[in-house]
Amino acid sequence: MKYISTRGQADAADFESVLLSGLASDGGLYMPEAFPSFSAGEIKSFRNAPYADVAFACVRKFVDDSWSDGELRDCIDGAYSTFDDAAVTPLRELAQNEYLLELFHGPTFSFKDVAMQLLSRLFATALRRRKSKGVTIVVATSGDTGAAAMHAFRGMEGINVFVLYPNGRISEVQRRQMTTPQDSNVHAIAIDGSFDDCQALVKQCFADASLRTQLSLTGVNSINWARIMAQTVYYVVAAARLGAPDTPVRFCVPTGNFGNIFAGYVCKKMGLPITRLNIATNENDILVRTFRNGVYRPRKVIATCAPSMDIQVASNFERLLFELRGRNSHDVRDWMKQLREAGDFTIPELPMASMRSIFEAGSADQSQIFETIKTVFEQCGVEVDPHTAVGIHVGRQLAKSDSKHPGVILSTAHPAKFPDTRLAETKKGDLADERIKDIMNQPERLYELPASKKELETFLLERTR
Ligand SMILES: *Cc1c(COP(=O)(O)O)cnc(C)c1O
Repeated sequence: MKYISTRGQADAADFESVLLSGLASDGGLYMPEAFPSFSAGEIKSFRNAPYADVAFACVRKFVDDSWSDGELRDCIDGAYSTFDDAAVTPLRELAQNEYLLELFHGPTFSFKDVAMQLLSRLFATALRRRKSKGVTIVVATSGDTGAAAMHAFRGMEGINVFVLYPNGRISEVQRRQMTTPQDSNVHAIAIDGSFDDCQALVKQCFADASLRTQLSLTGVNSINWARIMAQTVYYVVAAARLGAPDTPVRFCVPTGNFGNIFAGYVCKKMGLPITRLNIATNENDILVRTFRNGVYRPRKVIATCAPSMDIQVASNFERLLFELRGRNSHDVRDWMKQLREAGDFTIPELPMASMRSIFEAGSADQSQIFETIKTVFEQCGVEVDPHTAVGIHVGRQLAKSDSKHPGVILSTAHPAKFPDTRLAETKKGDLADERIKDIMNQPERLYELPASKKELETFLLERTR
């Protein structure tokens, strides 16, 4: 299994290099040269299998044989033993043919833990295999990635983690999850700007070849292929539980950077019977607009009560464009250039049509989010967080075009993480609440920087010396 860049100007690379480099050297995103596949029998065998076994079967297909089964199993077993539910990502029935896939049972209560807990162990193994002295991870976060990364990498020798988050635009719980770990290898940096500014800063650091080498810079944003790989597992687990390969399933995914839903697309390409992938966005609805008229045009970011999806530039969308263009990297380069220079690009009718045959998009505004939280609690007795509520709202809207098959809405965060949208009657005092109460009283450690590459560079160099 080799990986190629969406921009076609970087050498093919093996899994380990892809894992450790994050972004390809030509600025593109890595994709497997060809998708592996699941046989019907294999999918059937997953129906009652433990999560870690399905994870091993999926991950093994993406990692070449230079990594032993034992190395992969150790990473996987370690990663998922940190989850507080034996099923790791349990399914919960909301209504007939409507399920929530709970992805928030990890240490920081968002779906980011599913990939990050595995990624940190893969990193440690890769560095050991290479006898490497160490790496510097710089990552932008809209709130949850940073917390998941800091908790996954804290205390790991030789790995320094710097998390950039938009100052004042994340929830207090999200902030405290990043500012309370006292380990000296993890650092939270509040950037004066939006998530897109943070992401742009990270991209600028990566584009600086000398800084990249000096710090052995690497990324764990969802542009890192290994995260997409780790996220394919729960689609397979859920579909198999609901009767795949005999019964096809529809998934609805609260979407920001297009990483999570792209993992669903990968599963479909690998033969998992998925009828439709529903893209659910909040008022930052660039993808909904693109589906309507084929024009990809980022606007200014709107702050919403579902902040982890307050994103306009959906980085992983580049992977889908590469696919829809028959893996033509020339077109991808062209579009990215137009986006940089003109602020938008237009997708022709043919790729738009193939995109619409797989995906459908919808959005939820603030009042629809609040309304959904309330009705889901009243009708189903289940409390959901605002991101999951976006998914439910859109999932119900789009179910009209496919109501025959089970629909699975990805529940991407625990409601305790977003206290502002909780209903008074649902503050339950479960495990997540207890752990969150703890961090509310701990001292915070953070740095504030302007959205300036130069200042960030100085900061990184000082801290990694
Ligand atoms: C990151 C995040 C999302 C968006 O996921 P993408 O992979 O960026 O599309 C949705 N909900 C929550 C709670 C998140 O943390």
